[in-house]
Amino acid sequence: MKIKRVEILGFKSFVDKVTLDFQQGITSIVGPNGCGKSNTVDAIRWAMGEQNAKNLRGRAMEDIIFGGSESRKPLGMAEVTMIFANDDGLAPPAFRDYAEIMVTRRLYRNGESEYLLNKTPCRLLDITELFMDTGVGARAYSIIEQGKIGMILSAKPEDRRFLIEEAAGVTKYKSRKKSALRKIDGTKQNLLRLGDIVSEVR
Ligand code: ATP
Repeated sequence: MKIKRVEILGFKSFVDKVTLDFQQGITSIVGPNGCGKSNTVDAIRWAMGEQNAKNLRGRAMEDIIFGGSESRKPLGMAEVTMIFANDDGLAPPAFRDYAEIMVTRRLYRNGESEYLLNKTPCRLLDITELFMDTGVGARAYSIIEQGKIGMILSAKPEDRRFLIEEAAGVTKYKSRKKSALRKIDGTKQNLLRLGDIVSEVR
């Protein structure tokens, strides 16, 4: 899944809407210190579902909303939309008919947030599942920041295994297995309770 376009509005230093078009090949973002290069990567990571403000270099999630400057008032909402080309067959079958997949995340200052998939409201889980095993995603290896290579090399084997499993395409199945086991557990509890009730009624 290749990123075609990123639209950023009200996210960190991006007070007005900025559209970044990614062409074939390598894209470089250059500029003086503090101009917002890393904020671009933060915006991408956030739109893909990052839940930890620290991974976005903030204290609280609200810190990602434009906080005002000498000439501009703070904004009440941040919105990032990512448009992916859907031509490599990596997206789940439900998206087969779409040439592009659009993922939007919004956060309001009152803490309310919204996720949209192709402009339709969805859950965070839908976005996480969309990216699972594609290598893209908030925690996947598509974002390699400063020091990450060193971290991967010195990581504990079980942490490194997480990246290998994502690349091998088994993350999705492990996550589904976990949720199926949770359901089985719930059903077992219900059956136990049912057995108790039946024996009481007898
Ligand atoms: P460097 O080359 O030093 O790493 P950079 O280009 O990566 O810099 P960023 O870290 O992306 O710069 O941007 C930092 C700028 O973003 C700072 O000027 C900071 O004030 C601004 N900024 C961060 N969060 C907000 C916010 N919520 N509202 C307004 N501005 C913000």
